Amino acid sequence: MLSRLVDENNIKELRRLLETCENVVITCHIAPDGDAMGSSLGFANVLNAIGKTVKVITPDMPPRNLMFLPGAKDIVVYTKYQDFATRLLRDADLIFALDYNDIKRIDKVGDALLASKAPKVMIDHHMFPGDFVNVRISHPEVSSTSMLVFRVLCRLELFPYIDKDAATCIYTGMMTDTGNFSYNSNDPDLYIVISELLKKGINKDAIYSKVYNSNTPDRLRLNGYAVEQKMKIYDDCHGALITLTRDELNRYHYQKGDTESLVNVPLSVPDIVFSFFLREETGYIKVSARSKGEFPVNKICEKHFNGGGHKNAAGGEFYGTLEEAVSRFEELVPEFEQLLETCRSND
Ligand code: 5GP
Ligand code: MN
Repeated sequence: MLSRLVDENNIKELRRLLETCENVVITCHIAPDGDAMGSSLGFANVLNAIGKTVKVITPDMPPRNLMFLPGAKDIVVYTKYQDFATRLLRDADLIFALDYNDIKRIDKVGDALLASKAPKVMIDHHMFPGDFVNVRISHPEVSSTSMLVFRVLCRLELFPYIDKDAATCIYTGMMTDTGNFSYNSNDPDLYIVISELLKKGINKDAIYSKVYNSNTPDRLRLNGYAVEQKMKIYDDCHGALITLTRDELNRYHYQKGDTESLVNVPLSVPDIVFSFFLREETGYIKVSARSKGEFPVNKICEKHFNGGGHKNAAGGEFYGTLEEAVSRFEELVPEFEQLLETCRSND
């Protein structure tokens, strides 16, 4: 049996909203990852099965390796179908905000969402949930929104409507937000849910392979080059930094998602506690950060890189050149050392 988690009042309100709605729109964050896609498509699939008309809107194109997910090809990508997406949001009776806590995370979709009169429901696991919704199901202690969606579906008594396709989506989100169950993955309930999803017929080995064995030779070479030539280790603060310029990305015919897990690589060194990756985009520098244990990279991203996220996985943006972003990072070394000290003394 799964432990009870989601507040009964929220479930009651959600049940009431679902009873009366016909047209549902599900939104998730920009640069959708396995959890954003998995939770949105899994939830959409079940709502479809109970007779709702459901559309999933993503702010931009999902990565190629997630296009195998059932329903992915029917997603309305805002950057491609702006007017259609805006109309869908305007005419919706119910809107879901999945896997994001802040309206800024859906980029330009935000204006259309806020303009819509439809009630809005958040299902999310990021800290500091915003108040742009009517119902807020926010559980930062749950490792993925997909897992939370599974719990919500069970509480709505919709478990029987989860078929193999919906289960595949939900499993994908659970797998990707825990690095294939290698972090945030000590919750025994995780394995109860996986067991139920396996009974629905999912092929977890095939899902792993589709998501993770998706390299191209260019992608492998780009990541190899980045580690060999562009990784700097800061011994004193146990940190690592990787940077890639536009020219370097172009040299390897960079496509979105090609550096997805690069920021994690330095953490495979036992001594490295945190890792940053700076990628030159047009007009800004994209920041990705990861850490181990108590080291809060989200605090750094909030304070210095216009971003946020989770304690061990965060990101943001820097407005300036790549050189300036590196200088900013290096100015922070004393702060990193201080944070390390605090983490150690709290151990
Ligand atoms: P990634 O490095 O995979 O792009 O992002 C990791 C996590 O950091 C995301 O799940 C999200 O929670 C957070 N994140 C990434 N980029 C941003 C950003 O620009 N702003 C905020 N607030 N959070 C971000
Ligand atoms: Mn997530």
